[in-house]
Amino acid sequence: MSASLPVTIEDIEAAGRRISGHVIATPLVASASLSKLCGVPVSLKLEHHQSTGSFKLRGATNAVLSLTTEERARGVIAASTGNHGRALAHAAKAEGAVATICMSQLVPTNKVTEIRRLGADVRIFGNSQDEAQEEVERLVAERGLVMVPPFDHPAIVAGQGTLGLEIATQMPDVAMVLVPISGGGLAAGVAAAIKARRPAVRVVGLTMERGAAMKASLAAGKPVLIEEQPSLADSLGGGIGLDNRVTFQMCRELLDDIILLTEAEIAAGMRHSYRQEREIVEGAAAVGIAALLAGKIKDIGGPIAVILSGRNVDMDLHLSVMNGETDPFREGVA
Ligand SMILES: *Cc1c(COP(=O)(O)O)cnc(C)c1O
Repeated sequence: MSASLPVTIEDIEAAGRRISGHVIATPLVASASLSKLCGVPVSLKLEHHQSTGSFKLRGATNAVLSLTTEERARGVIAASTGNHGRALAHAAKAEGAVATICMSQLVPTNKVTEIRRLGADVRIFGNSQDEAQEEVERLVAERGLVMVPPFDHPAIVAGQGTLGLEIATQMPDVAMVLVPISGGGLAAGVAAAIKARRPAVRVVGLTMERGAAMKASLAAGKPVLIEEQPSLADSLGGGIGLDNRVTFQMCRELLDDIILLTEAEIAAGMRHSYRQEREIVEGAAAVGIAALLAGKIKDIGGPIAVILSGRNVDMDLHLSVMNGETDPFREGVA
């Protein structure tokens, strides 16, 4: 393993001490049905029970707690309308800082209301996420607000990596970790933590066929743009940034594989999670279970930890998937 990675095990351990007491150390529970299916012990890391409903609170809390007093007084800003936006709003409020979240006019009212409820200053700007991001950059330049990006930042990766530290402690004989991947903050942090503690553990990223930015970038040898399409795993959408500084290099060095899932496979993962495990998860969080059910994980050599990363799914959508819908976003529908 290269010694020059942007986030080290020491950074992750420091993040663990920093955010302890601010986030939940989530349970890791055995899955009887998946253990039977795979022939090895399979456990689920119930990170969807984290406050704000996703692991994003770990990175956001670490980033906010790492600010200087003077930076904290200026406030933080991001353009995320999803789990990162929620997490940053929550983390900032908990530390008495102001979070500004910029979003486009097209963002549904319920998302706006939710992030306002978490105490953020919501600014509606433009007709796309890119225009909202331009507003972020303007406010950073004009008012000195501190931008906290969703994945490509050492403090974010170190915070997400604390999940890997917990798995290493909770499952000392773990042989493989299945981790959902989009921008790669979670996968980079978890892989750095696990492999520092237990170098032989394999870390496999999972994402949807519709817009696998990190996989395409690793194949191209550099960050590339991909076409985005609606997916059940909406939290896995978006690119990795053409000027990626942290997660591309770390994922290239640390991940053993990235496996792609169809919409039907993701839907099956959500259904298994609900019916067999009694857990409500969003599509992005169901990809690990989906890959096991689809028989896409090869060379199973020992105990597996599967990260359930979030639960922020529209409950009407969840219900329709439970009732058998496999691809609500196929062309011409939804
Ligand atoms: C953000 C997110 C991911 C992907 O995390 P990255 O760090 O962008 O790879 C996976 N699952 C959920 C629920 C998320 O919110």
